[in-house]
Amino acid sequence: MFKKILIANRGEIAVRIVRACSEMGIKSVAIYADADRHALHVKKADEAYNIGADPVAGYLNAHNIVNIAVAAGCDALHPGYGFLSENPELAEVCVRRGIKFIGPDANVIRQMGDKIQARNAMIAAGIPCVPGSDGNLESLEAAVKLAATIGYPVMLKATNGGGGRGIRRCDNEKELLSNYDRVISEASKAFGKPEVFLEKCVVHPRHIEVQVLADAQGNVIHLFERDCSIQRRNQKLIEIAPSPQLTQAQREYIGGLGVKAAKAVNYENAGTVEFLLDSDNNFYFMEMNTRLQVEHTVTETITGVDIVQEQIRVAAGLPLQYKQNEIAFRGFAMEYRINAEDPKKDFLPSFGKITRYYAPGGPGVRMDAAIYSGYVIPPYYDSMCAKLTVWALDWDSVIERGRRALNDMIVYGVKTTIPYYQQIMQHPDFRDANFNTSFVESHPELIEYDTGLPKELMAAAIAVAIAAHEGA
Ligand code: ADP
Ligand code: ADP
Ligand code: MG
Repeated sequence: MFKKILIANRGEIAVRIVRACSEMGIKSVAIYADADRHALHVKKADEAYNIGADPVAGYLNAHNIVNIAVAAGCDALHPGYGFLSENPELAEVCVRRGIKFIGPDANVIRQMGDKIQARNAMIAAGIPCVPGSDGNLESLEAAVKLAATIGYPVMLKATNGGGGRGIRRCDNEKELLSNYDRVISEASKAFGKPEVFLEKCVVHPRHIEVQVLADAQGNVIHLFERDCSIQRRNQKLIEIAPSPQLTQAQREYIGGLGVKAAKAVNYENAGTVEFLLDSDNNFYFMEMNTRLQVEHTVTETITGVDIVQEQIRVAAGLPLQYKQNEIAFRGFAMEYRINAEDPKKDFLPSFGKITRYYAPGGPGVRMDAAIYSGYVIPPYYDSMCAKLTVWALDWDSVIERGRRALNDMIVYGVKTTIPYYQQIMQHPDFRDANFNTSFVESHPELIEYDTGLPKELMAAAIAVAIAAHEGA
């Protein structure tokens, strides 16, 4: 087993990986930009190395990070999610420098990171894909022609995209004409690559994804599915395992497709195969994420499998600890991405000092946080600052547990998505397990929640209550 692992990431996911290392008796090494000097992952890891004054550049410098890993005596590197996690060059630099990359082979990362190559590999393997272009779009004219054969609405997507960016729905030719240059420019800016492609837009789909695990011996298993249909602007907000919207037969079918997809590309380590489920109950492959996913916590919660530890074991050459028939799940788990954003201001990021943080607890509650009382959330990174995951035996109870835990959780100093999630928990369609990726945008009224009494009124109300109590 590895002795020391460098964590090429920050925030809650770096803390998550430190925890896995600690339980396995492996030393952990953090890296941090100046802006992250007081970050939790730096405090939790066994060692930490500064990667410079630029808040972001250091986390994207594969050569320097691997240099640090070598100098610190690490034998492996975990990339987390985001940053360089899906960058094949990091995996290659690791191989050259004798550091084991905890993830799949660089060629598989490259192939799946290109959504066209991924689609083509899946079509070859007999996995259903949304109808779309079989290559990158060469010109606007070609796009218009293809869209006419596929039929509107269509999705224009960045071939190398991720994180929900570089995706636009076009309902007609006019929208395609106006979005084409926009998506190319978004793709160039966000991913450094201008390639875009087109696929049929599945109307009101559910986002269903399958967690897979594969070892170097060729064993591939799935850990069931997650329902990530609660999204805003193609970005996930709440994730659920298993999907409350699938039958057992659909569950078995989609799990099988996930394994088939992973086998088709000789996958190794943990990965996620994402599918869309249309209103006629057809599944379509959408993309494969070749890394640990934000929402892996819900799968861990229902199956009891520690996905990060399994990643580390597999990377060390050990076979998977579990056979498919040993994987079972119990109850439901739900994860809330606690974002430092103000839902009432169009989810504008709300960075700054956390004046007070109190973590929820009690039965069935898991927190993965990067915050603490007094911590100042820097403005340079993703606004997701914590993840709350709850578990209960049935769907109604997991909603109640989530509502209760969200209520328990206190984050003062910045605005968060907590009150917005409380509204979703009360919506009848959500409670009936009847929702798709349009849920958030079709319920703008859920943003109209009451933020409570203004401070002055609150102080006056408390004074009255105290006076009444003292008089009693
Ligand atoms: P998940 O599928 O794990 O839920 P997300 O799509 O929410 O992942 O992405 C997790 C993080 O990684 C986000 O911070 C997102 O912005 C970032 N990310 C994902 N893919 C890319 C990419 N191709 N390029 C840059 N950042 C990415
Ligand atoms: P990313 O790499 O950014 O995660 P995905 O291809 O996974 O991009 O798409 C992100 C989200 O965009 C999906 O979860 C879904 O809500 C929406 N989406 C993507 N492609 C389609 C499509 N063809 N039809 C309908 N919705 C789509
Ligand atoms: Mg995706």
